[in-house]
Amino acid sequence: MDYEGIVYRPPSEAYSLIIQVTIGCSHNKCTFCSMYKDKKFRIRKLEDVLEDLKESRKYYRKVEKIFLADGDALIAKREYLVELLNAIRIIFPECKRVSIYGSPNSILIKKDEELREFHSLGLDMVYMGVETGSDMILEKIKKGVNSRELIEAGRKIVKSDIKLSVTLISGIGGKEYSVEHAVESAKVINEIQPNYIGLLTLLVEDGTELYEDVNKGKFILLKPKEVLHENRIFVENLYVNNCIFRSNHASNYVSLRGTLMKDKEDIIAQIDEGLKQENLEDEEIFRSL
Ligand code: SF4
Repeated sequence: MDYEGIVYRPPSEAYSLIIQVTIGCSHNKCTFCSMYKDKKFRIRKLEDVLEDLKESRKYYRKVEKIFLADGDALIAKREYLVELLNAIRIIFPECKRVSIYGSPNSILIKKDEELREFHSLGLDMVYMGVETGSDMILEKIKKGVNSRELIEAGRKIVKSDIKLSVTLISGIGGKEYSVEHAVESAKVINEIQPNYIGLLTLLVEDGTELYEDVNKGKFILLKPKEVLHENRIFVENLYVNNCIFRSNHASNYVSLRGTLMKDKEDIIAQIDEGLKQENLEDEEIFRSL
């Protein structure tokens, strides 16, 4: 099985069999994202995807987790996904978890009963990029949805019993809108009540619109301790139940982990410890992947 281009997956899918259902991202306009800039979006032919499954079966004796890539595989039509999920159950009966990237827009066009059907066929987790809850920042980063749509999409997944993992990006509002980003993001997450929250830190990559803005001085990046202050405001404002919170991605300055709400004070204490670290330079940091 040959993958087309670079394949991205969430950190928690490190040991999953990755199957490309789509190539690229159906949106591909976010100002900070370079992941799929070199790929023209398309949904792969179902027979080719099924072939990949059969070929993978020959190489792997035990596959417990399957991740459906690229960005936004959930955009495929109901019939396509039903056939794919059924095939996974037949070819990999030992598979315990199938997960997928889903953009807010592709979730919104799915009917509630379709999402419940996917869940009954083994779709266990949807990863949705929220990035920020601030309408103003969402517009600036060209996410293509507003906070109301993010909430509606997130709630649809939660209601279907598929687990929802959301990601947010520390520093995405820059210095100017750091507090707005933290407070508004917490409001959106409180309304969604996801199962998992993943917090990444903004990485500015060459070739993106954001890179140009940083170079022109239009966007001021946060310093490491400012990122932690932003994280603190975000966590302080979170009110979610039985939600696993992680900021252990390589992009983060300090690794945080806990289950909300029970570990909220502990997570805040972890952030406060990070704020005391002298090795967290107070320099502005310009990083790339
Ligand atoms: S951040 Fe997500 S939705 Fe935006 S362009 Fe990148 S992959 Fe697509």
